[in-house]
Amino acid sequence: MLQIADLAVAYGPIQVLNGVSMSVAEGEIVALIGANGAGKTTILNTVSGLLRPARGEIRFAGQRIDGQPPERIVAAGLAQVPEGRKVFRNLTVHECLRMGGLVRRDKAGVAADIERMYGLFPRLRERHRQLAGTLSGGEQQMLAFGRALVARPKVLLLDEPSMGLAPRIVAEIARLILDIRREGMTVLLVEQNAAMALGLADRGYVLEAGRILLEADARSLLADERVRRSYLGL
Ligand code: ATP
Repeated sequence: MLQIADLAVAYGPIQVLNGVSMSVAEGEIVALIGANGAGKTTILNTVSGLLRPARGEIRFAGQRIDGQPPERIVAAGLAQVPEGRKVFRNLTVHECLRMGGLVRRDKAGVAADIERMYGLFPRLRERHRQLAGTLSGGEQQMLAFGRALVARPKVLLLDEPSMGLAPRIVAEIARLILDIRREGMTVLLVEQNAAMALGLADRGYVLEAGRILLEADARSLLADERVRRSYLGL
């Protein structure tokens, strides 16, 4: 579904990704873990078209997408839930969710999915008229998630969905990720919380200083001595 080959990305003179190759098969949940600054968000932003690679290829459902504008990539069925509080601050919760549906033609389906998001996140229903910029961090995270899901993407890129959330909400988000996979979605999950990510994922990659250091099924990574020491704090 998603193939990244020999990707190199630089910010000006500073090279942050150096020949990254990875893939996500249809229906898979793949975790990408790594220390702060390893380049995880840079990978997601390049896949979603926000950054241009200096080298390498990205294919989505067989088609080259590297270098294409983000709106074209979203329309093709790839949605990103950005890290932290990147929602439209001056739109209400409800308007933000409707934005998610702009790439779809079936208006009735969009309305039904927004209703479903309110079912999943009752907090958002209570606050549907509130401006997104005034929501708490956790609420904004839920909104960013809900907005991406309303787009019904084929592939969902999740950037640290557990960040800043209470353990109970993290468990809910984990359940939600498993649910959306059951509905046929493919997920690439970037996480600092390696235990959570590898607990959910089928496979995982460990990124270190812009290179893939390890790649294995999630269970093997959870048992790997280096992963246990560096990312699980064991
Ligand atoms: P974290 O877990 O802390 O979010 P990350 O693995 O997602 O880290 P990136 O956000 O991809 O890491 O950043 C990789 C490196 O690129 C970091 O050293 C960061 O400082 C640098 N970087 C990111 N964005 C820019 C930018 N716009 N200009 C210059 N350097 C940048």
